[in-house]
Amino acid sequence: MIIPEKPNVAEILSVSQDTSDTKTFEVEFSDKNLQKKFKFRPGQFMMVSVFGFGEIPISISSSPYKTNSINFTIVNVGNVTNALHKLKKGNKIGLRGPFGNSFPLQKFRKKNILFVSGGCGLAPLRSAIYAVREKKSEFGKVSVLFGCKAPENVLFDEELKQWQKEDFQVLSTVDNPNKTWKGNVGLVTALFKHVELPSKNTVVMMCGPSVMIHFSLIELRKKGFKDEQMFASLERLMQCGVGYCSHCNIGNKYTCIDGPVFNAKDLNKLPVKED
Ligand SMILES: Cc1cc2nc3c(=O)[nH]c(=O)nc-3n(C[C@H](O)[C@H](O)[C@H](O)COP(=O)(O)OP(=O)(O)OC[C@H]3O[C@@H](n4cnc5c(N)ncnc54)[C@H](O)[C@@H]3O)c2cc1C
Repeated sequence: MIIPEKPNVAEILSVSQDTSDTKTFEVEFSDKNLQKKFKFRPGQFMMVSVFGFGEIPISISSSPYKTNSINFTIVNVGNVTNALHKLKKGNKIGLRGPFGNSFPLQKFRKKNILFVSGGCGLAPLRSAIYAVREKKSEFGKVSVLFGCKAPENVLFDEELKQWQKEDFQVLSTVDNPNKTWKGNVGLVTALFKHVELPSKNTVVMMCGPSVMIHFSLIELRKKGFKDEQMFASLERLMQCGVGYCSHCNIGNKYTCIDGPVFNAKDLNKLPVKED
């Protein structure tokens, strides 16, 4: 049985270096029975602990249909993430969850999907992208937009190319190009003019810095998208993950239990902070 407050031990199966500061960890619960029964929905997160260092919320970046292991894509920004980045295959971590709500994919059947991501915001969206990809016939057309600072920060480069080959429209942009960069230059919102999807019958899932979400909502509204069609996953400092501690509240909502996925209609009512 999974007890929300109790971490379960998991073993690191592999570690891949995605960019200079980002690694993806593939892990499995040491209790094989727990791994077999483990289920999550795209957009949910887990509390990941490094013994002796602390515990942090991290979204699951793998497919909900992959049941033999779980992936986390983690940027090295501070104390716990730095300790995590030092871990290798065979090392153990603690896991609690999955927690939070998710992208309501069951309501998106037959609709076109627009994914909008910035920086490591592509990681939480990746599990939703996989879910849509695996049930492609149930959805309409799919566009994936990704923006980051520089070409060396492009996350899941090979997968972006693969999704493009598989008939998704994939557009990347960087703020600071180098000589070899062949994609777009500028903010992710500048990609909206290339999106082939009509605002009618399209839903939007986004994740990235608050400022990206803020301006994406403004620009998409100008293109005719209604707030009901747009969903964003938010990141806030949090500790318990289960609504006890109040660290992650925004206005009268807790990111851990009311979120991390919010509809734009609800975002309007929240005092959303800039990163
Ligand atoms: C629901 C949710 C899902 C997340 N998913 C991912 C993910 O998939 N991949 C990933 O790399 N990160 C993710 N994060 C952010 C991750 O939790 C933080 O980067 C992590 O807590 C930093 O811990 P630290 O001890 O390494 O840094 P610290 O030493 O605590 O701090 C380093 C810096 O990061 C800031 N920071 C600390 N905690 C957070 C936080 N929770 N959110 C935002 N900034 C923070 C601090 O203010 C400080 O500036 C997620 C956060 C939430 C709330």
